[in-house]
Amino acid sequence: GPYTEVVDRQVQEALDGELERQRTTIELIASENFASPAVLAAQGSVLTNKYAEGYPGKRYYGGCEQVDKVEVLAIERAKELFGAEHANVQPHSGSQANEAAYAALIDPGDKVLSMDLAHGGHLTHGMKINFSGRTYDFSHYGVGEDGYIDYDEVRQIALRERPKMVLAGASAYPRIIDFEKFRAIADEVGAYFLTDMAHIAGLVAAGVHPSPVPHCEIVTTTTHKTLRGARGGMILCREEFAKKVNSRVFPGMQGGPLMHAVAGKAVAFGEALQPEFKEYSARVVENARALAEGLLEGGLNLVSGGTDNHLVLVDLRDAGVNGHELEQSLEAVGVTCNKNMVPNDPEPPTVTSGIRLGTPAMTTRGMGPDEMREISAVVCATARGETDGLRDRVAQLTDAFPLYE
Ligand code: PLP
Repeated sequence: GPYTEVVDRQVQEALDGELERQRTTIELIASENFASPAVLAAQGSVLTNKYAEGYPGKRYYGGCEQVDKVEVLAIERAKELFGAEHANVQPHSGSQANEAAYAALIDPGDKVLSMDLAHGGHLTHGMKINFSGRTYDFSHYGVGEDGYIDYDEVRQIALRERPKMVLAGASAYPRIIDFEKFRAIADEVGAYFLTDMAHIAGLVAAGVHPSPVPHCEIVTTTTHKTLRGARGGMILCREEFAKKVNSRVFPGMQGGPLMHAVAGKAVAFGEALQPEFKEYSARVVENARALAEGLLEGGLNLVSGGTDNHLVLVDLRDAGVNGHELEQSLEAVGVTCNKNMVPNDPEPPTVTSGIRLGTPAMTTRGMGPDEMREISAVVCATARGETDGLRDRVAQLTDAFPLYE
């Protein structure tokens, strides 16, 4: 009827507009990527119609033989990709993966030691009004003056607080995380060690960042960042925690799994097992280095002075522009990124003194170090308050590397 036509037209207009936006802008949000057409197709499939509470072979609904195949593929591929003993591919998001994983190891009120949100930690790592901060008793470590995690500080706080669980992982940390050091600290105080590798999962899968899997009781992740899959979450763990993890996800926290999303994860994990994904991930890191060098040469400061992974954190405290302003002026010339707190930021989270820039999405489009240099020049010019010709330079880059064609 006329109602659905109007709704469809309105939604379709926004979908078309979004495709155009993605095609014509430089995407530097470090947590974003462009999923393959195969992943998009799986996510947009008839699996969205299916209820499948439970796990493969043990469902609470009939008609699950096809979705069982899909979930088994996702699980087996995830285990192979990360060398994990067990995988739960049902969490609807990274946040829900964390909620279930924490509940598998510790009880409400227990102490947890995690990265300070203002130093790069995630909301689910103990923010006051997040489920994490409401449920558990968090203390935090941060980075030192040099921008690197201060492992001596981590150990000191662990010895003082005696947490039940130590948590590694971050949303805005540009350096390699030393999982062996964290494991040793957790062992010294008799704590569990959980890593949230959401940001670096693709790099870990490709072997361009060390893996937390051998060192942790449980590892959580999102599947849509560097891993380039369907939007969602996943939990990997040792066999001894498999039953607990599964029951904390369902029925502990979720009802029916999003089987279309599970299908998208299965397809993405299959892609990540291909040799091309290793090359892609190595290029993500190479591109981040090139971007960092360009920004430094253009006069901007970087937290920790550079990067080992897929992102850089620009420290704008001496740049004469704040994070909010630069995010806005970059958007105006066609570059998308997000404002981000820097360690010891004098500004509130709505303003910030930093921007976070990542290379996963533009690397998927095929761009390399030369393009990163050009992008860094556009960012530096924008930070200086220039606008002339910048939108055209962005258009030249996006035209040369078409998306979804
Ligand atoms: N953990 C980390 C380290 C993240 O960066 C994110 C992403 O925002 C999440 C968890 C949460 O993932 P989601 O947004 O899917 O809930």
